[in-house]
Amino acid sequence: MGRLDDRSARVLEGRPPQAAAPPHAGRRGRVPSGPLIEILQESGLGIHPRLSALGPDILSPRFDGAEALRRLQLRPDREIGEALLDQEALAGVGNVFKSEALFRRRIHPRRRIRDIRPEEFRALWKELPRLMSAGAKVAGSIVTLPRRLRKHDETRWVYRRTGRPCFVCGTRIETLRQGGRDSYFCPRCQR
Ligand SMILES: [Zn+2]
Repeated sequence: MGRLDDRSARVLEGRPPQAAAPPHAGRRGRVPSGPLIEILQESGLGIHPRLSALGPDILSPRFDGAEALRRLQLRPDREIGEALLDQEALAGVGNVFKSEALFRRRIHPRRRIRDIRPEEFRALWKELPRLMSAGAKVAGSIVTLPRRLRKHDETRWVYRRTGRPCFVCGTRIETLRQGGRDSYFCPRCQR
């Protein structure tokens, strides 16, 4: 478990074992149940049994796109719309931003990992954090559309816009199921 002089901390779910009780708490007793907080050094993240399973964090300033790509390519037949949600390949991408980023980069969600060019991945690694940091939450809803296109019920490029016209070409947005999740896309803009 952790050491007091460690610098970074991650919160994991789980019951705290006695060994996790912080020595500086100054008293002994029951460790309250709830999230287990482990204190780790940066160098420990790669060997931690649970954290090492996670892929590179898309929002980290030190995001390692080559490593994310390497992990995605372990299953080259997988469709990109499913693979981007695999937290062991790439951590931090949720269903909304997956659909939005694929639309912005004009990548069809059914395309397989092996058919996507390295420069398309590099563009995605830029697009995702850009959308995610710009995607302000308005009244609890993620907004990705630029202000000039927003209306009261239109806040995203494609997500949950099935049947509505694409903001770029006017074609109706479609939905498909992948890995138990919905992917939203424009059948004309995305190839
Ligand atoms: Zn379109």
